[in-house]
Amino acid sequence: MTMLRFAQTCEAIAATTKKLEKTAIVADYLRSLSPSEAAEAAIFLSGRPFAAYRETTLQVGGSLLWKTIAELSGKPEQGLTASYRRHGDSGSVAAEVLPEKPQSLLSLVSVQQSFEQIASARGPAAKGHLLRELLHQATPLEAKYIVKIISGDLRIGLKESLVEEAIAKAFDAQLDDVKRANMLLGDIGETLVLALAGRLAEAKIRLFNAIDFMLASPVESAQEALSYFENAAVEDKYDGIRAQAHISKGEAHLYSRTRDEITESFPELPPALAGLPDGTILDGEIVAWSPHGAGIPTREEPTVERNPGGPDAAPVTNSGSATPRALPFSTLQQRLGRKKVSEKMMREIPVAYLVFDILCADGDLLLDLPLRERAQILDKLLAAPRAQPAIQAHAQSQFAFQGEERSCAPVLRAPVSAAHSPDDIEALFTAARARGNEGLMIKDPESRYTPGRRGKSWLKLKRELATLDVVVTAVEYGHGKRIGVLSDYTFAVWNGDRLENIGKAYSGLTDAEIAEMTEWFLEHVVRDEGLRLQVEPKIVLEVAFNNMMESTRHESGYSLRFPRIVRLRPDKLPEDADTIETVRKIYERQHTG
Ligand code: AMP
Repeated sequence: MTMLRFAQTCEAIAATTKKLEKTAIVADYLRSLSPSEAAEAAIFLSGRPFAAYRETTLQVGGSLLWKTIAELSGKPEQGLTASYRRHGDSGSVAAEVLPEKPQSLLSLVSVQQSFEQIASARGPAAKGHLLRELLHQATPLEAKYIVKIISGDLRIGLKESLVEEAIAKAFDAQLDDVKRANMLLGDIGETLVLALAGRLAEAKIRLFNAIDFMLASPVESAQEALSYFENAAVEDKYDGIRAQAHISKGEAHLYSRTRDEITESFPELPPALAGLPDGTILDGEIVAWSPHGAGIPTREEPTVERNPGGPDAAPVTNSGSATPRALPFSTLQQRLGRKKVSEKMMREIPVAYLVFDILCADGDLLLDLPLRERAQILDKLLAAPRAQPAIQAHAQSQFAFQGEERSCAPVLRAPVSAAHSPDDIEALFTAARARGNEGLMIKDPESRYTPGRRGKSWLKLKRELATLDVVVTAVEYGHGKRIGVLSDYTFAVWNGDRLENIGKAYSGLTDAEIAEMTEWFLEHVVRDEGLRLQVEPKIVLEVAFNNMMESTRHESGYSLRFPRIVRLRPDKLPEDADTIETVRKIYERQHTG
């Protein structure tokens, strides 16, 4: 029964584009339920089968869903495909093709229990059986939303932030308190229960649940950077993978920008981190590491005052070919995307974790302290001897430990310099580039750590004219040696909550990447236009280009000259892609010299 009301509420939410109306509908609905049902509904409304912090996944792919819907509908596949092309999502197909039921029997709790069973079942056959049972009991409208939750996207224009707003409204709580509790707990259901009891302040950080990452805004020059704050803490911008490390009771886990666990990809890091105190959360970049500075050309570097271990630490000199260095992303890329990382791979492409922030120490959250103070805590923590001999004075050159089988990688404090003038920044930029890094991160020492926000407290200064992070909206088959594979990508940037195309690129990816992408795109077609396939807007690319022009060719009103794909950005979600405002800014800069 309660599942039917959930589905009807979703229909009502989808029927309005006004955010205020959406939150009002959700707030009324949540208030009308018992606390445990409301908690479950809040999780489902944020488009998930389980609370965010849980590592449980259903492991039900598109094809298993498709097969089950087809079977239950008793219709030929062709009819289903036509319906999919009309709607572009399997949930709506289910609603259209599944048989009517005389009455609704499902409750939110029973759907939740089925999800738990599906998640713990092993293999597609067992999962398929449970899924069939669940969908068999559902009315077409209930099935629509069950399928949407399983696919991880309700598509009713309701982000988790709107569910947070609705909880604040429903239970008379401060929105900031709701957001904070949800961030700490990673559970919008538990957050709702606390809001309802007026106990949001009691929410405690839950380790092994990634906090959203603080993001940086691009700047074009040293002058622009210092227009936001006068004194800057400056670090190299390393070209690797952002990672948050959680340490508790001798265990360490790593999370990516999309808050997915990536510990298994870097088996040499947990042993190096596990000796840190209980209740530590670090933010940093995992890079391919050259312990002796080899792998990239060494150039003359200007001398710049650097204080890697805080003001009292000995200065690090960066000249000399034996200086350890971070290597470009292309090196790290060679060991990504593998299920198992061999000892050989760890030896051939060593990594290091360059830590630039600390979010939690001894279980205390530090987000509200200024960066200046967080930096001091971090300096002390990484300078202190560890419980395990994880890092020694020059761990860079150390790889395996005496008598220990496991490899262990360096965990290092990313060096910080103080800059007070554009000249300071220019000198640091040249030095960073000479070390082979991408550019600089320029940070306001007075700033708090603001999860998930792209503000002006962290700025990134890069060398390229500009690159854009874009979302692929359509793909085409290639020519020549690319016949039979989807190698031409049309891509878009955000204009408000709409994606508007801005260009099309052909080159830049490896054959293996194109083959993998072809497979993915074929499984995520929204509309088949013959030679061109519109696809689900999920894949983020970083594109470089020589020039930007105003143009009526694409709906964004701009087009790119010689666009090329720099790399796939699986670490970014579609909503992290660039906006039309950034495009305009780049265009204007180009045309005002
Ligand atoms: P982008 O990926 O171009 O949006 O640039 C932001 C990313 O730079 C962050 O998410 C980090 O992964 C990376 N990064 C590299 N070095 C640093 C640093 N010192 N501080 C913060 N972020 C860094």
